[in-house]
Amino acid sequence: MKEVFRDRDYTLVGLCKSALIEAGIPIVMRNENLSSLEVPIPAFHPAVCVANNKDYERAREIILSLVAPAKVNTPDWQCESCEEENPGNFELCYSCQSTRPTK
Ligand SMILES: [Zn+2]
Repeated sequence: MKEVFRDRDYTLVGLCKSALIEAGIPIVMRNENLSSLEVPIPAFHPAVCVANNKDYERAREIILSLVAPAKVNTPDWQCESCEEENPGNFELCYSCQSTRPTK
């Protein structure tokens, strides 16, 4: 199992989920039942995972065609101040609001 997409916007995650199901790719949802809560912690955001890692590249391409590439291409980053993991599309640390380190 491999995560392909995660976002706090459940609509977007749902869109990706439907597209992958339509393409016949077996998926597993994470944190789907938490979607109604406004959780500021990225670890609890709804996420779409492929059940089989071999489908990862294909799933990623489908998702890339649906959402802005910036959201998918940027890897998670670790905050230099508090060492929390942040999703690639966050410019500030969700935990301590430090700016993202430039590498
Ligand atoms: Zn931080």
